[in-house]
Amino acid sequence: MGDRWHIEVDRSVCIGSAQCVNRAEGAFRLDSAMQSHPVEPETDANERILAAAESCPVEAIVITLLGSGEPVFPPED
Ligand code: SF4
Repeated sequence: MGDRWHIEVDRSVCIGSAQCVNRAEGAFRLDSAMQSHPVEPETDANERILAAAESCPVEAIVITLLGSGEPVFPPED
């Protein structure tokens, strides 16, 4: 508990499918080019955002621990 996350969307990969917007309402928004952006790139650890990253069909959402940069999603093998 208490972790802070850094959220990034790799827009070279994002296909604008909007799963992230639906899974984590308010946490992502699509721009006019149908590219996803995190509304708050730095945020408290949040199950909905993790679910959104897991639901992305192209793994465009990258979550790391703020500070250490340790991967949260996709997880390190
Ligand atoms: S779910 Fe993935 S591909 Fe779809 S809009 Fe979100 S980041 Fe882009």
